[in-house]
Amino acid sequence: MGSETNERVLMGPGPSDVHPNVLREMAKPLLGHLDPAFLTVMNETMSLLRQVYQTENKLTLAMSGTGSAGMETVFVNLVEPGDKVVICVNGLFGQRMVDVASRCGATVIEVKAPWGEIIDITKVKTTLEQHPDVALVAVVHAETSTGVLQPLEQLSQIVHDYEALFVCDMVTSLGGVPTLIDERKIDAAYSGTQKCLSAPPGLAPVTFSERAVHKMEKRKTKVQSWYLDLSMIQNYWGEERSYHHTAPITMVYGLHESLRLIINEGLEQVFERHRHFGEALHKGLDQMGLKLLVQKEHRLPQLTSVLIPDGVDDVNVRKQLLTKYGIEIGGGLGELKGKVWRIGLMGFNAKQRNVTLFLAALQDVLATNSKA
Ligand SMILES: *Cc1c(COP(=O)(O)O)cnc(C)c1O
Repeated sequence: MGSETNERVLMGPGPSDVHPNVLREMAKPLLGHLDPAFLTVMNETMSLLRQVYQTENKLTLAMSGTGSAGMETVFVNLVEPGDKVVICVNGLFGQRMVDVASRCGATVIEVKAPWGEIIDITKVKTTLEQHPDVALVAVVHAETSTGVLQPLEQLSQIVHDYEALFVCDMVTSLGGVPTLIDERKIDAAYSGTQKCLSAPPGLAPVTFSERAVHKMEKRKTKVQSWYLDLSMIQNYWGEERSYHHTAPITMVYGLHESLRLIINEGLEQVFERHRHFGEALHKGLDQMGLKLLVQKEHRLPQLTSVLIPDGVDDVNVRKQLLTKYGIEIGGGLGELKGKVWRIGLMGFNAKQRNVTLFLAALQDVLATNSKA
């Protein structure tokens, strides 16, 4: 652990800063994981999760683990060996879904787009025409490796025309942009606590439609992961309350408080706050003469990829932002390594102070790092 004076502003792709009220809740003494008082906290957490996910799905709960555990939960429970699945890949997290689905024994068909662009839905349509027996189509809603926001409405329609399940990675979207699970007929989604929910990494909220539940009930094979098997996890979060594994009690306190804060502020207000400060950041970067990776209409407000100007040392700039200003931002991943910086304005962090602080700090650091 660093010294007490290590002040940081976490403006990367996650983890983002934790709301002080969440930290305070997490300092409270433990309850047993079957204590009636803790069961009340769990019930409230499920209800708050439904509100923030914008769904009435009964099967909505938080898996133990980070966002990737949420991804794995969706695939291990919905995919049986031999199932054909279509995965849209326009960044690192799409690639990760391909890996996870293949490990479940799925036959994976990829629909690709260049990093920084959205998925072309006509390509998904053509793929489904060629493979009408596809069981599931998955896409990343908010691609944190690029800063792209994928439009979902028409894609969902196409997927349902072919009677496949529609799965969305909502790790960076939940609590930042509307997820509208029911309105968009999304059959399964997963998220994480460490992005726009302003809680530490450690839980993965998931939600499943009736159609998805039906597919799980019809399985011929056992879910290959014991830890992530929803047929057992449901019995702990649901009426039965039977022991499966010990819930990460403190993390549930944290998630409960972070969701409560979002509902208290108002979902629409929270989305508007992200939109407002995301735009302010985009405008500020533009005024500095910097170029953004993603074209305007497909930009995420909560995660911005800015191109590193020619002749500027990627690592040095990030190092100076951290040592001089305590600001953490992210570098590029995969094919964008060394080409972009990724700046997060997630949850609690989406505020004027951070926009102003970051723009001023970057200007200062760039002045000493540019060759020109
Ligand atoms: C962060 C992230 C993940 C993985 O979450 P972890 O908490 O790192 O396991 C998955 N998908 C997207 C879009 C993400 O941003």
